[in-house]
Amino acid sequence: EKKGLNEIRKLFLDFFKTKEHLARPSYPLVPQNDKSLLLINAGMAPLKPYFAGTETPPSKRMVTCQKCIRTGDIENVGKTARHATFFEMLGNFSFGDYFKEESILWGWEFVTEHLKMPVDKLWASIYYEDEEAFDIWHKKIGLSTDKIVRLGKEDNFWEIGVGPCGPCSEIYFDRGEKYGCGAEDCKPGCECDRYVEFWNHVFTQFDKDEEGNYNLLPNPNIDTGMGLERVACIMQDVDSIFEVDTMKYILNNACQLTNTKYNENNEKNISLRIITDHIRSVTFMVSDGILPSNEGRGYVLRRLLRRAARHGKILGIDKSFLHNLVDAVIKMYGETYTELKEKEEYIKRVIQVEEERFQETIQQGLDILSSYMKEIEEAKEDTLKGEYAFKLYDTYGFPLDLTKEIVEEKGLKVDIQGFEEEMTRQRERARKARGGEDTEGWKEDVFTSLSKDIATEFKGYEALTNKGKV
Ligand code: ATP
Ligand code: MG
Ligand code: MG
Ligand code: MG
Repeated sequence: EKKGLNEIRKLFLDFFKTKEHLARPSYPLVPQNDKSLLLINAGMAPLKPYFAGTETPPSKRMVTCQKCIRTGDIENVGKTARHATFFEMLGNFSFGDYFKEESILWGWEFVTEHLKMPVDKLWASIYYEDEEAFDIWHKKIGLSTDKIVRLGKEDNFWEIGVGPCGPCSEIYFDRGEKYGCGAEDCKPGCECDRYVEFWNHVFTQFDKDEEGNYNLLPNPNIDTGMGLERVACIMQDVDSIFEVDTMKYILNNACQLTNTKYNENNEKNISLRIITDHIRSVTFMVSDGILPSNEGRGYVLRRLLRRAARHGKILGIDKSFLHNLVDAVIKMYGETYTELKEKEEYIKRVIQVEEERFQETIQQGLDILSSYMKEIEEAKEDTLKGEYAFKLYDTYGFPLDLTKEIVEEKGLKVDIQGFEEEMTRQRERARKARGGEDTEGWKEDVFTSLSKDIATEFKGYEALTNKGKV
């Protein structure tokens, strides 16, 4: 029988509770007391002080299901079967307690006995010189040597900014030839969607400092991360994470709202997946207190929301619609993440205001961009002037990445440097207009000028911490 995503999450947390782990609800997406990170991108990120030893953990063993955002994966969304910008990471953690052997043995136990994944489909990767991990996989687990792949630093050495880091060992599931790229040397680590990496075990032995030195930690730690959507995709035997029960529900709603069928053509599929992914990210981000703006987290939010709106346009939508998908997200996730339910009306309003603002200018902007691109092509050139990209940004609310994406679809480029120069000039003008006083950055945005009521209603994400249910 097929297990739902919400059920798999619970199985995982319960399993590690039986291994004496303290379960904690997800931390907010906004990092607390950590300037090195814009958004939480892994289960271990909010636990860094425990790994680094600057704070004492409430237990030497913890287990969480952490909300994560990875903007770096934005271009993969809708194209690969396995990437989302928002996803949930299941993780078990040891702070100077157990190490490699328990981590791998328990991981294997959970995957084969509790999830009951077929053993012959499972592969492991190790950091190329980690013989200790190799021996555990080969001698203790009994995995044959041809199913243990050695990978280099890029894949199997984990670090985010400064802080704890170390070599990794990953578990892969072979989904079969039909998902493969066909290359002769296709195996775990290949970029195609045949071997899905679903669980990364990080053996945190080092602490990287501001100068880039790797200092040995007195007590090595364990940090694992398993993508909940990916496991569900494997367990439910579906083509991509977008067909997992909770994702499919949101996607179906997107189909209805845009009057589009899924699996009719690839371009529409990509737009539908992008909308599905981005509305989930945006809903969770707003619930954690992020507001659209022109910088930092707010800009990430704005970029995701406007990109989704543009894909709505591609599907023929000419009014704001994204706020109507919030219900679907909350229906799927509101039981686990109670902050979604508590802030339901607020989330919808923030999204609607932002989307409506963009709706006022998006069509005009798209038309003007088309005429720019025609100009370029007629002149047999290949680059959009920075000045034009800036005009789209400044007058029509097109985030640079959105312009870049549209232009690249036509095989053209954007003069990024030219754009930056215009931006600097704009900031200088704004500074002068303010009478020369220096504030940090350029803070002008829709929400400071238009929606004071919305901006002040939010009470701060401190209030949200540790409110989710496990
Ligand atoms: P990939 O190589 O597929 O991009 P990764 O090596 O970047 O994954 P890790 O940083 O090791 O991923 O994160 C731990 C786990 O989190 C992964 O094994 C995967 O299950 C999950 N994961 C990572 N990125 C994403 C994403 N963008 N969407 C969904 N799940 C993800
Ligand atoms: Mg990745
Ligand atoms: Mg990887
Ligand atoms: Mg990995």
